[in-house]
This record gives sequence, C-alpha cells and structure tokens, in this order.
Amino acid sequence: MPIRPAGRSGAAGPGRREGSGLQARGRGALETKDLKKAGLKVTVPRMKILEILERNKERHLSAEDVYKILLDAGEEIGIATVYRVLTQFEAADLVNRHNFEGNQAVFELNLGHHHDHILCVRCGRVDEFVDETIENRQQEIAREKGYRMTDHSLYIYGVCPDCISSENG
Ligand SMILES: [Zn+2]
Ligand SMILES: [Zn+2]
Repeated sequence: MPIRPAGRSGAAGPGRREGSGLQARGRGALETKDLKKAGLKVTVPRMKILEILERNKERHLSAEDVYKILLDAGEEIGIATVYRVLTQFEAADLVNRHNFEGNQAVFELNLGHHHDHILCVRCGRVDEFVDETIENRQQEIAREKGYRMTDHSLYIYGVCPDCISSENG
C-alpha cells in the first residue's frame, strides 16, 4: 500500500513522522513544491492524491482506483473530490489523462517524458513504450502535411501475456 494509515494515537494532524525510517526521504517536500509550482493551494486531498500518483506501483489510475487506495489507507476523501482534484491536476499539467477505449479515464503523473501505451482489453493492464521509428515517422508525416507537430497519442489495444496464458491454460 502506498499510504500508511495515520497511526491510532488520536488526532491524525499534519504529523510529519520524522525519523519514520528509510522511505522518509524527502517525503512531503516534493508534493508541496509540485502543488505550489502548479499554482495550486496545498490542501490535504491534493497532497494525498498527489502522493498516491507519485508512489503507487501502477502509475495509471482511474479516479475510482485512487478513491479505493485512499479508502484502504483510512482516508475519508469522497469520490467526487478525487475526481475534482484529478481534473484540477490535469488543468495544471501535473497529470495526463488517457481516455482508453472501453475503460474509465486513467490519470498518470506528468513526468515530462513522452511515451505511448499498450493495454490489455481483458484485464486493463497498461504498459508503456517509446519507439524511435514511430516517433520519427509521425514527425515526418506532420512535416509532409505542412504541420508543426505539437503532440500525439498512440494506444495499442491487445491481449496481455498473462491473459493469453490463462486462455491457453
Ligand atoms: Zn490482460
Ligand atoms: Zn503512461
């Protein structure tokens, strides 16, 4: 779990949990800086949600995924708030939203390096890739058409290795 429930010793407060060990490296500072840089006021829901986006193993999360992670961590933040915060993050360029076909929108932290996605139509698994040939070819096509390319998105849909092997099993 990315977030540990705030201890049970009464008020959860903005406790800093200094010296809580190895994973304390820069904890908190990064998120606050990111929010301020994005021109967003630091609020508890924003902090918590940003922390999830930064620390969760699966980087592509729907609003409902984020909500469930918060719930598991004992955080009382409603789904509507989660959705609103994610939309604010998107507007502030802090996250990218992907509208994968047949799925809820998923959000991922915008780390500034472009990548494309391949995803499983059975289980929803998402993998990332960058292919120089594809990247260059798109630039060329845009140029040939007289465009100055600003962005592109490419989603490949398929069946992932796990789902293929469970089909065959
Ligand atoms: Zn799958
Ligand atoms: Zn991604």
